[in-house]
Amino acid sequence: MSAAPECVRAFFEEVFRWFPYTPEAEEWLKRSVTFEVEDLNSTRGGGWWQPAEDKVFLYTAQYEAAIHELAHAWWHYRRLGVEDEFMAVVQRLLLIVRLGVGFRGPGGKPARLGHVLVRQIVADLAVACPALRW
Ligand SMILES: [Zn+2]
Repeated sequence: MSAAPECVRAFFEEVFRWFPYTPEAEEWLKRSVTFEVEDLNSTRGGGWWQPAEDKVFLYTAQYEAAIHELAHAWWHYRRLGVEDEFMAVVQRLLLIVRLGVGFRGPGGKPARLGHVLVRQIVADLAVACPALRW
């Protein structure tokens, strides 16, 4: 049995309030997607996106899972026709993250290269994720 719809709505209102979705993305997601949460008293995580029903299902009230599944819903239709460009950005981000891990300067400070990589990740994400405000 899932949580009451009004409680699920309140949880997603919280997600949209706490995280930087643009008004357009928030409006589209609320209008286009059905939300369901099994247990709002836990934050263990997990969930899925069901395109056939345009539904985001979460096992618990975990923010990370909500953001992840909302991203599936957002990109499900928007990636169509631009799959190659989309995957190129994802591959580049993965490479940057892998290269960036462990770059530390003297005293444990992030090395200059680390700063450059972080700036590049932010720039790439701004291109890849227009649903978020930067
Ligand atoms: Zn996923």
